[in-house]
Order: sequence, then structure tokens, then C-alpha cells
Amino acid sequence: MSARSATVAYIGLGSNLNDPLRHVCLALRALRKLPHSTLLGHSSLYRSNPLGPVEQPDYINAVAALETRLGPRQLLASLQGLEQQQGRVRGPVRWGPRILDLDILLYGDLELYEPGLIIPHPGLSQRNFVLYPLSEIRPDLVIPGHGPLSALIDSVPATGLIRLDHSCVSEHLAK
Ligand code: AMP
Repeated sequence: MSARSATVAYIGLGSNLNDPLRHVCLALRALRKLPHSTLLGHSSLYRSNPLGPVEQPDYINAVAALETRLGPRQLLASLQGLEQQQGRVRGPVRWGPRILDLDILLYGDLELYEPGLIIPHPGLSQRNFVLYPLSEIRPDLVIPGHGPLSALIDSVPATGLIRLDHSCVSEHLAK
């Protein structure tokens, strides 16, 4: 890998199948071990109502801050690799339930609009299960192209979003 300076990226995690709390905790552990990267921290875990037309279980969500020397495309490929490792299979229905969804929410100040990769993530500014966890770890954040996170939060209610009193304890996060 060519040398690249470290950038702080924010990763959205979501799961609503097969013990989703466990899958989000396992994904946080995997992010901790991601090459060329350091997990700086993560939000609480949240329960949220599913989006989209398909009837499906509630989601467990979190947001992680990752300092990384991977470029955006390398990071996306790594996250998709983690989704596969945790058994994600692409179902017949778009927006359907999933074992693990990992999104690049932000990558430093980068604004990117390319086939297959849009940064900031296109759903970021409307999704309470992204905005509230993000503000838990970086309330002062300014979102490229959108402005202060605090202003976005004011315009998106926390309807259906529950912060959980659950930490990823040793059985999930032990080395
Ligand atoms: P999903 O089904 O929600 O996991 O969507 C995955 C697709 O979204 C992949 O094909 C990605 O290439 C694309 N994508 C576009 N922008 C992003 C982003 N910021 N983070 C993750 N996936 C993205």
C-alpha cells in the first residue's frame, strides 16, 4: 500500500438479523483489528425502526470513529470484506434485513460522488440512527456539504430511536 496520511473516517454499523447486538459488537471488534487503522472510539448501541417498504425486525446501530491510512476505496472494500466474513448474503429484496451493514459516513473532509461510493453517505443527513450516535462521539462535527451536525440534529427527530444500556462486553470484544 502506498503511504497515505491518516484520516479520521466515521463508520455506520447496522444489523437486524441473527442476534444483531452480537453482530454489531463483533463488527466493532473487527474494526479494532483492521489493517492500517486505529479504532478511536464508538457510540453507544441504539435500537431503531427499519426504513423502507419491507416488514422486518428493528435494527441495532452504532457509529465508530476510525483513524485510517486506507484510501476511501480500500476502506469500502475492507468493510465489504467484514460484511461477508460475518455472513452477509445479499437477499432478493433491496432494503431487506441484513446481518451486517457497514457504511462510510464520512472520510475526513472528503466530498466524493462516484459510481459505488458517495461520501458523505447519502443517507447521513436524514437518518436519526446515524446523526444521534455521531453526535454522541463528535457533537462539534461539521459535515462537508451540510454544515454543523448540531443543526441537522435539530431538524431530525429521534422518533423510534432508543439508546441501549448495553456495552460490548468481554465475550464479544475479548482479543
Ligand atoms: P447497502 O446495500 O446499503 O450495503 O449498499 C451497498 C452499496 O452502496 C455498495 O454497492 C456500495 O458501493 C454503495 N455505497 C455508496 N456509497 C457508500 C458509502 N459511503 N458507504 C458504503 N457503501 C456505499
